Amino acid sequence: MSIKANIEHVIELKAKAAEKSGRTGDDVLLVAVTKLHDVDEINEAIDCGITDIGENKVQEIMSKYDRVKPVRWHLIGHLQTNKVKYIIDKVSMIHSVDSLKLAEEIDKRAAQHGLTMDILIQVNSAMEESKFGITTDETGQMIKDILDNCPNVRIRGLMCIAPYEDNPEDAKVYFDEVKKLYDEYSRIDHPNLDFKYLSMGMSNDFEVAIEAGSNLIRVGTMIFGARDYSKKQGE
Ligand SMILES: *Cc1c(COP(=O)(O)O)cnc(C)c1O
Repeated sequence: MSIKANIEHVIELKAKAAEKSGRTGDDVLLVAVTKLHDVDEINEAIDCGITDIGENKVQEIMSKYDRVKPVRWHLIGHLQTNKVKYIIDKVSMIHSVDSLKLAEEIDKRAAQHGLTMDILIQVNSAMEESKFGITTDETGQMIKDILDNCPNVRIRGLMCIAPYEDNPEDAKVYFDEVKKLYDEYSRIDHPNLDFKYLSMGMSNDFEVAIEAGSNLIRVGTMIFGARDYSKKQGE
């Protein structure tokens, strides 16, 4: 299948899932995850209407940035504080904030560039050891700490990576928990908090995530096919 046909398929499934939760497909943003795919494939996806792309490594953003057509870039993977400076003026949102230290570095670099950076807090609701993100119990305090200390950061919502399940329905409990937090904390009244994105769902589980309330899905494999991990670079 072509990238174009794959995108059309994802858009169709996204709309069906959104309708099940009383929304439309347009209420759910599709971020095409382009990690380990080359610039030609990315530009092809952009020609097919993709407006937002996700990368999980700073180095990959740096190596592709100048050759990719105009698009919004999302940093969706773990971010080391010493690499924030490279991407602060390139990405439109950082999905993977999981420490005050990282938020403070983003704040500092954003100030240097005269911008406010949109971030999501990554919540690891399944408490998987192998994954980054804070626990559901830590979320409220993390939001408060960032609001108290990071004037150049705007909290736009939450992000979650559910454990891989052979039956994606089994991931729903983890999405439901993060949706509950999202609804709770979206009510905070603060100039630097403006919840708009609940980033949940990947190729394997995005329909379940949307039914649980996700409004931003991060889809790679279903658009571009399997990734070639022999091309992998450092973080
Ligand atoms: C790779 C990645 C995705 C996309 O995964 P697919 O299974 O290829 O759709 C989504 N989110 C994050 C954080 C990723 O690293």
